[in-house]
Amino acid sequence: MSQSETRATVLEMYPEDSREAAALLKQAVPLMVRHNIPPNPVHYALWYTYSKGQVPELNRQLDKVIKDFDRFPAESASKLFRDYIIRDELEDARAGQQQAINLVDDMARDVSRSVEGNRNFQTSLVHCLDMLEAPTHERLPDILSELQQSTRLMQSQQEHFLSQLHSAQDEIKTLRSKLERAQLAATIDGLTELLNRAAFTRVLERALGRPSRGVALVMLDIDHFKQFNDQYGHPLGDRVLQHVAQTLRHSLPSHANAARYGGEEFCVVLEQCPDLASARAFAEQLRLKIQSLRIKARGDGKVLDTITASFGVALAVPDDTLDSLLTRADDALYQAKRNGRNQVI
Ligand code: GH3
Ligand code: MG
Ligand code: MG
Repeated sequence: MSQSETRATVLEMYPEDSREAAALLKQAVPLMVRHNIPPNPVHYALWYTYSKGQVPELNRQLDKVIKDFDRFPAESASKLFRDYIIRDELEDARAGQQQAINLVDDMARDVSRSVEGNRNFQTSLVHCLDMLEAPTHERLPDILSELQQSTRLMQSQQEHFLSQLHSAQDEIKTLRSKLERAQLAATIDGLTELLNRAAFTRVLERALGRPSRGVALVMLDIDHFKQFNDQYGHPLGDRVLQHVAQTLRHSLPSHANAARYGGEEFCVVLEQCPDLASARAFAEQLRLKIQSLRIKARGDGKVLDTITASFGVALAVPDDTLDSLLTRADDALYQAKRNGRNQVI
């Protein structure tokens, strides 16, 4: 059975403190602007890593894409992100799966060997018992020797089986933590530790499968966040996202789940929500909590500008699909922005 290997996780790839990280972003952002690259998390990760120069092959690939295309195709970004940034995480998941398959194969083989050994032992016992029905002095030594031999064989097979079980136990432990890590990376947003978009989509789909329980969707987007980033810098922007996420986490009623749906956009699904008014009241409370967050600069402790967010709320109706519900919440959010932001529609 193979031993597990340890690889660097995505977060371990970026050990910079906030000053170093800010310096790298200061190099990355102008590059993105120069090449007209949309500022989304995938692109940030790619161009940040590019500025770091730690993965030369990624730099070569990015240079090549920029040279070959006028704009930066989204599919190239996704592929490079998968191949060079989260590759190890994906490999972890694949290696974990393969290890699980090998382990089950090994155990199945060991169990069938042990069953076979037991069966042989039983046959030998039956045979000896038959002979003992009418024992004669001459046959006794043969019977005893056969019994002795098959008992020894059985014992050594059992010992072997036990030691296989022990090592399988160790392997199961490593495998379990590997799978847990891979599962976590696949469902949780690294910055805010809320569900990521893919995981949230699954949760929402599941909730819509039980519409009798009353499902509401709350979508929120931080107001003028680009301006905040421009004024205070991206690392501080990241901290705001973490504070908003924490506020969300602490405000969730039971039967609710929250996710970071995109850059500065969050979603909450409320199950067992009786009507639109309750969902609206929940969103209104959240709005006030976010508005009263006081975020301080690290150095001088000065309180930064107030953060506000706009909210769109929709209640699922029969026949709603994932898309129709998301679209209604998104339309309401858009309306909240148009009406002047910092409000719930
Ligand atoms: P609006 O009120 O219309 O929502 O304005 P906005 O500036 O918030 O919206 P816009 O979509 O123009 O900009 C979103 C900004 O969110 C752009 C980007 O700088 C920022 N952003 C997205 N993801 C992240 C992130 O992971 N960290 C930080 N710090 N900023 C992010
Ligand atoms: Mg915004
Ligand atoms: Mg937005």
